[in-house]
Amino acid sequence: MLYGYDVILIEQLNLMEGQDMALLIDTGFGAGNLRGFVEKLTNKPIIVANTHFHPDHAAGNGEFERAYMSEGARWDAPSVYNSGAVPFDITKLPHADYEKIYVGEGDRIELGGRTIEVLDVLPAHCNSSLFFFDRAHRMFFCGDELEAAQVNLFDNSKNPGAPYDGEERLQNFKKNCERIQSLSPEFDFLLPNHNGAPIAKSYIEDYIGLVDAIFAGKAVVEEKLNHPYIEMDEQAAKLCRVRWKWASIFIYRDVIRSLYGKAR
Ligand SMILES: [Zn+2]
Repeated sequence: MLYGYDVILIEQLNLMEGQDMALLIDTGFGAGNLRGFVEKLTNKPIIVANTHFHPDHAAGNGEFERAYMSEGARWDAPSVYNSGAVPFDITKLPHADYEKIYVGEGDRIELGGRTIEVLDVLPAHCNSSLFFFDRAHRMFFCGDELEAAQVNLFDNSKNPGAPYDGEERLQNFKKNCERIQSLSPEFDFLLPNHNGAPIAKSYIEDYIGLVDAIFAGKAVVEEKLNHPYIEMDEQAAKLCRVRWKWASIFIYRDVIRSLYGKAR
């Protein structure tokens, strides 16, 4: 489906063209022949970048020679490479040992007459998120860090050694949202990877409000997750859903128990 300009949304993947190069944001699970499909859509050389290093975004990187990503991918790599993390044998992809190029704040991906800015993201949904900002075309790609259905703020790195502090995640999440909000006069389209895109910019305010509402003891906490996929997660019994206006997150019950109404 085509949404204005030259962005093509196929589930959670985005393809953008400049005069010289095309940028594919995220590569899916590594099923099928994504590269062959994308090469039907553009005849420009393809640069690949990941919004973050989770299996539904980065497992298909091995179809390409190299991929741009956050250095935080080191923490989240087990979510992609642990046995069973991906239902396909990604070690059989043509470039399974593809080159990982770490990018971050201030880097710019030049497509020829079109520049995509890279922004660092504090660990919230994961340890490896980047935002991509096409300022000239007023498009902001926020990965899984902000979306219309719910944002996962539990540890989904599948890495027992990865850092996780629930309160810090919530504070980081709020700071990330505030950063997006500060840039919001410069974009029209907030483009998450799941559950619909583009989404209204008013979600940013609701998500900031959700964090404040937890500390103020006003957010709605639901024991039932109402999400068949997350209910299958091995951590499901430890999670709750927290809502505020149109915003919703999944996070550990323990974290909410310790922080709810504890505004300082
Ligand atoms: Zn994710």
